[in-house]
Amino acid sequence: MRFQDKVAIVTGGASGIGLAISQRLASEGARLVLVGRNEDQLRQGTELVKQAGAPDAWGSVCDVSVEAQVEATVKGTLERFGRLDVIVNNAGLMQFKPLEELTGDDWLRILNVDLLGAFYFIKQAFLHMKPGGNVVNVSSIHAIETSPLVAPYAAAKAGVNSLTRSASLEGKPKGIRVNVVMPGAIDTPMLWDNPNVKSGVEKIDKADVGRPEDVAATVAYLASDDAAFVQGAEVRVDGGRLDRL
Ligand code: NAP
Repeated sequence: MRFQDKVAIVTGGASGIGLAISQRLASEGARLVLVGRNEDQLRQGTELVKQAGAPDAWGSVCDVSVEAQVEATVKGTLERFGRLDVIVNNAGLMQFKPLEELTGDDWLRILNVDLLGAFYFIKQAFLHMKPGGNVVNVSSIHAIETSPLVAPYAAAKAGVNSLTRSASLEGKPKGIRVNVVMPGAIDTPMLWDNPNVKSGVEKIDKADVGRPEDVAATVAYLASDDAAFVQGAEVRVDGGRLDRL
């Protein structure tokens, strides 16, 4: 029970990889705050994490791209649970367009969620977390190797890796660890709805498809005291796919 008495916020925590992370932390004793924009999904998610073992769970309706809403989520967490030990920045959006059709607004929509959303939560972590707390960011192997039509997503995820390095440096003297997980192809709707995957532009061997639980297990390790000396790490969870791209 590595998260007994601990409190974790998981953004995008009520679906896909985020739900698996929330359930894994719950099964190890954490109290959970699930963040997302869809109230019904959050209600279902909080029930599922309680069934997985969370002593308590709260769904916070919050758009991670709006700093005031992120502040309100962290304030609500501290009021309800009295502490904050772990933040998992998992919320993410993808958009598919050729570069010549992309607008500045398209770029900002993705960067605001995928990169600035993580920044706003890290800022709150640095303002409110006690030494011993930690942040795990979820980027993607697209931070390193990408495919056509996803330029803002790939840049945002590369930005998340860079933000992890900066936050790791500034978090160290505060006793706050910051690490990043880079999933490969993971079996969620985000993978199978991807037009590059549907059209065969991005070929995915079945052996290269992981489960949300595979990412969750790695996030749980990084968020736990087992990783007490792991700081600024970029951990691929891709079954080795990146080496074959
Ligand atoms: P998903 O089910 O679509 O999860 C995305 C989550 O982000 C949803 O819960 C969504 O909730 C939330 N979200 C999106 N925009 C938000 C916003 N503005 N504010 C708050 N929450 C927001 O897809 P997934 O596959 O589990 O992806 C989870 C993470 O893993 C993402 O960061 C993704 O980039 C990364 N990833 C996935 C794969 C893969 O193959 N599946 C591979 C590499 C990386 P609401 O819509 O309710 O707000």
